[in-house]
Amino acid sequence: MRDLLIVGGGPAGLSAASEAARLGLETEILEEHAEVGIPEHCAGLVSLSGLREILGTEAPIIRKIKGFRVYSPSGKAYMVKGGEAKAAVIDRPAFERELLRRAEASGAKVTLGSQFRGGERYKVLINAEGTAGRVSKRLGFGIPEAIPAAQLDLETPGFEEDMVEIYLGRHAPGFFAWAVPRRDGVRVGLASSEGIPLRSLERLLEKFEPWRRFSGARRSAPIFGKVVTGGPLRVVHRGNAIAIGDAGGFVKPTTGGGVVLGCLTARLAARAAYQFLSGKGGLDSFGKAWKRAYGKDFMLMRLARAVYNRMGAREVDTMLETLYSGGALRGATQYDMDLQGKALWRLARSRMFFRLVPMVLEAIF
Ligand SMILES: Cc1cc2nc3c(=O)[nH]c(=O)nc-3n(C[C@H](O)[C@H](O)[C@H](O)COP(=O)(O)OP(=O)(O)OC[C@H]3O[C@@H](n4cnc5c(N)ncnc54)[C@H](O)[C@@H]3O)c2cc1C
Repeated sequence: MRDLLIVGGGPAGLSAASEAARLGLETEILEEHAEVGIPEHCAGLVSLSGLREILGTEAPIIRKIKGFRVYSPSGKAYMVKGGEAKAAVIDRPAFERELLRRAEASGAKVTLGSQFRGGERYKVLINAEGTAGRVSKRLGFGIPEAIPAAQLDLETPGFEEDMVEIYLGRHAPGFFAWAVPRRDGVRVGLASSEGIPLRSLERLLEKFEPWRRFSGARRSAPIFGKVVTGGPLRVVHRGNAIAIGDAGGFVKPTTGGGVVLGCLTARLAARAAYQFLSGKGGLDSFGKAWKRAYGKDFMLMRLARAVYNRMGAREVDTMLETLYSGGALRGATQYDMDLQGKALWRLARSRMFFRLVPMVLEAIF
C-alpha cells in the first residue's frame, strides 16, 4: 500500500511526484511507455519564466523566442518582435528526462513500461494520464474538451530561429496552425475542430504561400495528439483521487499550451495529497488552491476562447487589425505567455477593447 500512486510520467505526473516525495510521501509513478517523453506530441513552446519556475535552469532549450508572426484569415501578416526573449522552444523528451531525474532524486519510485490496471493499492491516486481518458473513465472523472492535432518536422533552412508563426485561417477552423523553429528546421502543426488535421496541414503547406517554401523539405513521420481547449474540469477530485495536467484540463484554453500550468498545478495537487494524508485537510483543498493561484487566468482565457470560437473570418481579421493598430499585439510580448489573465484583463479595460465590443457581440449573437 503506497501513500500516493501517480498514473502517467508526463510533465504533470513527474512534477507531482517530485513535490510529493519531497514532502515525505511514499510515491510511485506508473508510466506505460519504456521511456518518458516518448512518443512526443507537443510543439514545446513555453514561457521562460515558467520554465525557470519549474526547473530553475534553461537546460532543455532548443531555441529562444523573441516574437511571432500571425497570419490573418485574409492572409495579412502581423509581425511583433521584442528585444528580449520571453519564451522558448524546449526539447520535450529532455525536459521530461530532467523531471524524472528530479523525481527520483526526491525519493519517488518511477516504474516505466507499466500500465495502470486498476488493481493497484494506494491511499491516494493522482491521475496524470494526459488525454488518454481510460483512467478518468474508470474513476468517474469527466473528459476534458479536446481537439485533434497533427505535426510534422521539416528539415529546412531559412526559418527565423527566434520567431514562431501562427496561421488563423480556413484550413484550421476552430483553432490554428503553427510553425516553431527546431534545431535543423521547423515543426509545423495544425489542430482543428473539423476535418482530418494531417490532411488539412498538408493542404495548408501546399496552398498557403508563406509556407510553400517548406514543401520540398524532408519530413518526419507525423506526430499526433489532442489539444485540450475547455479549461479545467468542474470536478478535479473524487473520493481519494485527483485529476491533474491534461487529464484535469489544466491547459490554456487560448493556445492549448499545458506544460507550465500543468506542472505548477500538479505541485498544488501533491500538496493537497500531503495535507490529506497527514490529516490536515481534504483533497478538495486542491480545487481551492488552483483557483486561488490561477482561477482568474483560466476564467479569462476560457472566455477569450469562447468568443474566438464564435468569430468568423471577417471578425478575426478586424480583431487582429484592431489589436495591432492599438498596440496590444506588440504589448503581448511583454506579458507572461503562460499566465495570460493579466494581459487579457488589461485588454478588456483598454480603450481599444471598446472598438472590439460590437464585433464581439456580433460574433456571440
Ligand atoms: C499538438 C500539440 C502541441 C502542443 N504544444 C504545446 C506547446 O507548444 N506548449 C505547451 O505548453 N503545451 C503544448 N501542448 C500541450 C502539452 O503537450 C500538454 O499539456 C502536456 O503534455 C500535458 O502533460 P501531462 O503530464 O498532463 O500529460 P502527457 O504529457 O500526455 O503525459 C501523460 C503520460 O501518461 C502516460 N499514461 C497514459 N495512460 C497511462 C496508463 N493507463 N498507465 C500508465 N501511464 C499512462 C502516457 O504514456 C504519458 O507519458 C501541445 C499538445 C499537443 C497535442
